[in-house]
Amino acid sequence: MRTIGHFIDGVETTGNSAEFQDVFNPATGEVQARVVLATQADLDAAVASAAAAQPQWAATNPQRRARVFFNFVALINRDMQELAELLSAEHGKTVDDARGDILRGLEVSEFAAGAPHLLKGEFTDGAGPGIDMYSMRQPVGIGAGITPFNFPAMIPLWMLSPAIAAGNAFILKPSERDPSVPVRLAQLAIEAGLPRGILNVVHGGKSVVDGILQHDQIGAVSFVGSTPIARYVYATAAAHGKRVQAFGGAKNHMIIMPDADMEKAADALIGAGYGAAGERCMAVSVAVPVGEETADKIIAALKPRIDKLKIGPATDLASEMGPVITQASKDRIAALVESGIAQGATLVVDGRGLTLQGYEKGYFVGPSLFDNVTAEMDIYKEEIFGPVLSVVRARTYEDALKLTMDNPYGNGTAIFTRDGDTARDFAARVNVGMVGINVPVPVPVAYHSFGGWKASAFGDLNQYGTDSIKFWTRTKTVTARWPSGIKDGAEFQFPTMK
Ligand code: NAD
Repeated sequence: MRTIGHFIDGVETTGNSAEFQDVFNPATGEVQARVVLATQADLDAAVASAAAAQPQWAATNPQRRARVFFNFVALINRDMQELAELLSAEHGKTVDDARGDILRGLEVSEFAAGAPHLLKGEFTDGAGPGIDMYSMRQPVGIGAGITPFNFPAMIPLWMLSPAIAAGNAFILKPSERDPSVPVRLAQLAIEAGLPRGILNVVHGGKSVVDGILQHDQIGAVSFVGSTPIARYVYATAAAHGKRVQAFGGAKNHMIIMPDADMEKAADALIGAGYGAAGERCMAVSVAVPVGEETADKIIAALKPRIDKLKIGPATDLASEMGPVITQASKDRIAALVESGIAQGATLVVDGRGLTLQGYEKGYFVGPSLFDNVTAEMDIYKEEIFGPVLSVVRARTYEDALKLTMDNPYGNGTAIFTRDGDTARDFAARVNVGMVGINVPVPVPVAYHSFGGWKASAFGDLNQYGTDSIKFWTRTKTVTARWPSGIKDGAEFQFPTMK
């Protein structure tokens, strides 16, 4: 049985722990590896290694640091296929989709190679008589990232790339459910020229997360995962004096206006609702057609598309949708579908009970489609995180907008329409962080930034883009007077511009 170790001070190690957790192949239900779970001593070893390496790294000029990212990007591209297959084997998503997971993270590493420009400070010549003022952005020291199972390459790369390019050391605590790719990325970073200790990976669950949140030497924590844990991480890290950003769950609505291209809208819903088995924080889980006629048309367009979806293991290149991550997740999805029926929604397509020959023990769930869902039902209120699409019929555009705005989550949303005025109004008024106009999954590119609103994000500053450079650095502002200093004697008035 393969053992997945931590990655501390440039080497893979099982550290001090005798505790392991099984890593499953979601397509077969078999245990394919075991991951070691960190003790406090393992975390301390990672922090000690980071603390020893960081000052030298911060003192390395930013352009040289950036060059490591040029190499890193090249190495990830070199190993793309191997990484994608490894990712699929532990997560279950198709190999093509796994490549997308890696690529959207890689783009943030490319962005990080441009960090020298973003790290430049500000300068004011003559802020007062003989006084110059300048600010610099300095690394926080040691940063940590805690990441979810659903993007085991992209989200670690979102965090570690700007953090490290800005001169920090970084400790990654990836999901214990698919931990191999994060370790491979750390190995590639070393091969790219990153000094040992600048990127360490420790595995585990709550106890190691608590160790991170309370650690005196860790200055900033970035978290992505479910909302209850995001809230907890936000509060606990803040209580320990850390800078923290914590991104949570989602319930993303897609509004379909009567003037939308129904064929395109249906295609978009299939990809955004069922892609990666619905296990994306930007998945569309609620479709909101405006008007009865629009609703009838979209349901009619969705049904045959769902019937044609190819569900299978990632190893079958024809598969369009893989299994969900665990048996528990599969059971939870089935229970929520049951609750939808019990609470009065119309189950148009039932994805439960799917078994695939040769993969009977795999965590496959077929796609489900509900019509006539209301805001009071559990299938609307809960983040299902599975291949279940709910249609909530809205009478008017204003009703559809209100439904989206009243939802406690605010990660992503989309509107499908041919009317620029409606689209513009929607983008301006909706209280959601990322908006798509005829784009169902509006994940911003690496030089913009990613972040939801409301219960989808706690703290300030988004992932990647210029926000990330701000998050992983502190501003220091220097007021300098040369050469006379304060030779005229002490001043007792609060300094003002003379
Ligand atoms: P999760 O919250 O269960 O786990 C996230 C991380 O927290 C993991 O590293 C896990 O080990 C750790 N963790 C788990 N339980 C913990 C506890 N009790 N205390 C402290 N740490 C704990 O999330 P998941 O199931 O891995 O991922 C799916 C969730 O992530 C969904 O809710 C999804 O919407 C969300 N997500 C959000 C975004 C975003 O950008 N907003 C992106 C991807 C995923």
